[in-house]
Amino acid sequence: MSKTNKRKKESVKDEKEHIVQAVMSKYFEKKKEEKISAIENDDSDHKETTHVVKKRRKVTNDDRNDRKWEPPHWKEHWENILAMRIRNKHLEPRGCDTIGDTITDDKIRRLHVLVSLMLSSQTKDTMTVAAMDRLLEHGFTVQYALDIDIDELGKIIYPVGFWRRKAQYIKDTCQILRNKYNDDIPNTIESLCALPGVGPKMAYLTMDFAWKSNQGIGVDVHVHRISHRLGWLPYDTKTPEQTRLALESWIPRDLWNQINHNIVRFGQTQCFTVKPRCSTCLNRNICPASTSKDTVKHLKQK
Ligand code: SF4
Repeated sequence: MSKTNKRKKESVKDEKEHIVQAVMSKYFEKKKEEKISAIENDDSDHKETTHVVKKRRKVTNDDRNDRKWEPPHWKEHWENILAMRIRNKHLEPRGCDTIGDTITDDKIRRLHVLVSLMLSSQTKDTMTVAAMDRLLEHGFTVQYALDIDIDELGKIIYPVGFWRRKAQYIKDTCQILRNKYNDDIPNTIESLCALPGVGPKMAYLTMDFAWKSNQGIGVDVHVHRISHRLGWLPYDTKTPEQTRLALESWIPRDLWNQINHNIVRFGQTQCFTVKPRCSTCLNRNICPASTSKDTVKHLKQK
């Protein structure tokens, strides 16, 4: 191409860009004016709308299902996770959700649920379940915890993580249950969190397993990690408690009490912390964190 032709082409391009810019800036100016005049002419309606929105927001704080944001493909993710649970059933360890199933006395069953969750932090499910089986063999009740020497209790729950500290927590908790709750466990998140060694995750799971009350999502390391991987969070979260609030902002409330045990099982059998099994995961083509080669192929074909 000659230099003259090249210059001509460039000047046509410049001219086009200039026209487009002029048209766009006029368009945006017009839109801005229209918006201002709409607000000025309709100020009372605007105030009314703000009032209504404020009113609605107040309601949605209690019922977060009204909010609009939801992650793409979450229903498929969820169905696939449930399908993979059936497929991987033989790999699942016995979990804390089965603790107390054989106990007929309701108060004692609830106590065992609470204690199993206290033991489960920083501990593998198999170890927690074995420790709970030993406590059951000893006929563990509030009275038993008050009577037993702390070293003896430590020996029974050993080798769960932080067993010395947990033995102390169990004894202190049982003293509170005797003094304030007539040997039963409390039935609110606040009062459960006030017990020694009990945090929000344990409190929400206790409300679900012990009291059959769906109060919120129990977020542990598995739920925290997998929510990030699947793109289930509307904003970045650093702590399990932040993740709980973010998930509860869009997950339908009737699913809250199903999230923890299904996602935990998925995390224990498929979506591991290190080297998740993406190549056999049913979510591999719709998961933003997938490392499967199939995903790359799938995206290229699209
Ligand atoms: S594709 Fe991989 S990272 Fe994504 S959910 Fe499945 S196992 Fe986890």
